[in-house]
Amino acid sequence: MAKAVDDALASGVTLLAEAGTGVGKSFGYLIPVFLSALNKKRTPIVISTHTISLQEQLLLKDIPTLQKIIPYPLKVVLVKGRGNYISLRRLRVAQIKAPTLIQSDEFHDQLYKVNRWSLDTVDGSRSDMDFEPDGMVWDLVQSDSSNCMGRSCKDHQRCYYYQARRTIANADILVVNHALFFADLSVRGKGSSLLPDYRAVIFDEGHMVEDVAIDQLGDRLSQGAFHYLFERLASSGKKERGLLAGEGFFEAKQQLHSARAEVDLFFLNIQNWMNSHSGAGSDRSSGAVRDAGHFRVLEKNIVNNNITDALAELSKKLEDESADLPDEEKIEFQSMADKAADLGVRVREWLEQQHKGNVFWLELAGKRALRLNMCRAPVDVSAILKEQLFSKDIPIILTSATLSTGGKEGFKAIKERLGIAKAGELGLESPFDYYNQSEMYLFKKIPDPATQPREFEEASLAMICKFLEKSQGSAFVLFTSYQFLQRTGKVLESWCQQRGFPLFVQGQGMTRNRMLDEFRASKNGVLLGVDSFWQGVDVQGEALSNVIITRLPFIVPDLPLAQARHEAVQEKGGNGFYDLQIPQAVLKLKQGVGRLIRSSTDKGIIVILDPRILTKGYGKRFLQALPKSRLFVDGVEQPA
Ligand code: SF4
Repeated sequence: MAKAVDDALASGVTLLAEAGTGVGKSFGYLIPVFLSALNKKRTPIVISTHTISLQEQLLLKDIPTLQKIIPYPLKVVLVKGRGNYISLRRLRVAQIKAPTLIQSDEFHDQLYKVNRWSLDTVDGSRSDMDFEPDGMVWDLVQSDSSNCMGRSCKDHQRCYYYQARRTIANADILVVNHALFFADLSVRGKGSSLLPDYRAVIFDEGHMVEDVAIDQLGDRLSQGAFHYLFERLASSGKKERGLLAGEGFFEAKQQLHSARAEVDLFFLNIQNWMNSHSGAGSDRSSGAVRDAGHFRVLEKNIVNNNITDALAELSKKLEDESADLPDEEKIEFQSMADKAADLGVRVREWLEQQHKGNVFWLELAGKRALRLNMCRAPVDVSAILKEQLFSKDIPIILTSATLSTGGKEGFKAIKERLGIAKAGELGLESPFDYYNQSEMYLFKKIPDPATQPREFEEASLAMICKFLEKSQGSAFVLFTSYQFLQRTGKVLESWCQQRGFPLFVQGQGMTRNRMLDEFRASKNGVLLGVDSFWQGVDVQGEALSNVIITRLPFIVPDLPLAQARHEAVQEKGGNGFYDLQIPQAVLKLKQGVGRLIRSSTDKGIIVILDPRILTKGYGKRFLQALPKSRLFVDGVEQPA
């Protein structure tokens, strides 16, 4: 792998390198990256990961190890988004203005703690804190391009954000996450940038590139964003708080009042539109396609746009009435004015469906109070990525344990989805002895989940208990449906308690990291998880010796984005199920199965309850992508 990456870096081409668990893929790219950085010192190489845990592994373990072996002083810098840094100027202003900006005693205490922390923080970034301030408090003090005074700021010399920028400017290797990388790519199109120029990119966890690109190149405008802006300007509580509190700003206050009313009316109109389309189902003639909580919007201007002008006017009043204030105060008004105008522009773009090739939808979000999100996302990022990334004359290496769908198809799906016309391909199998380290249990006799969902669930619950007994806990049970997970959680609660298996159920208030820590420590825990536990989770040793997969992880194409992607494939003459859903599900199943064997001494069982892997023709595509374990079908061992 190191040789292939080295060649790609030298010749400026794209490389797809699938490396099974245990190959040591991080060293497979770090060594050539280090050697390349030694030779050409001016422009950095970017290493992008999806998860924080992989970033930590690189920065705390792998890179320091390599730096001991290759004793040249290379500068490796972790790049964080600007909003992660404290703005010392804003902190100072927030403290002075706290009585008019902050409502609760709790938030006053938090601001005090942030100030204490700022006196001896190492890098001024949020991850250096040992407490988590409320988003509203952090928003008052974070570094923000819209209200940064740059060189005229009194705190510029000791500003943590600018210190970080200077460090980045001299770096040989930049470590970023995919979200920041694609946020940078999206603003580069508008002549701006978050990262310096780079001469090569390594995407580790490369299987997540498409999803993150879609997310970053789209938009999600929440109803709460308007409310938040208005509260920052003047709170609706009994006491007057906010930037406009006190004497003056008469016209801005008046305009704020009318903008609030317009926004309320706008969302009421949207609600009415949704109600009138609530029976739309998949009826395209009505301009909406509905799924629980999601409304795909197929037509432009579904309601009157009464917001954009009101917000532009508010923006203007804020600018006008703050014109004579001292610079430090004026810039806060300017920033709020920009934010108000920006919200108005985004509403207009969404209503008029200005972004070609995007799918537009509304979603209901929030647990306590339901709020609306206005969302859009590019249906197909291949053309954008081809133009803005893969056709650039720089080497790009994508690596992961799951890039290829196996067999003849190989890397075809990922190349098409990302717009990669030409790439070197490398497939390295895991060095682990899966046949002797793992057993896989498959079933023909369990009812089909698509045609007999209730019977499937009943049979699955019995099997889950049977295999939890077999492994004596120490199991992940991975779901594709949160409802089924919850039902299983209820059934297993007393069952696990009787057997002394600690039960961890996702979505019951415990963070993912804490669930994992406690699961590892328990040694015989049972963890029920959806999406985020299928990948990026590393539990070695006896704590995990059983991975139960309930259903093949097809993305059901009834959510707006999945539906639009499905249609786009069909329109191009393809088959949405075979060309999109199966490749996606194969990669996800590989990820899920990959949770089991994480080292050469791990042993355990994989149980796949969905019978379609054996009974359907497409099942072979899943089987050929999985590692070769000892195989049992309906309890009978199959020949090797
Ligand atoms: S330079 Fe900008 S980000 Fe830094 S402290 Fe000053 S205003 Fe804040």
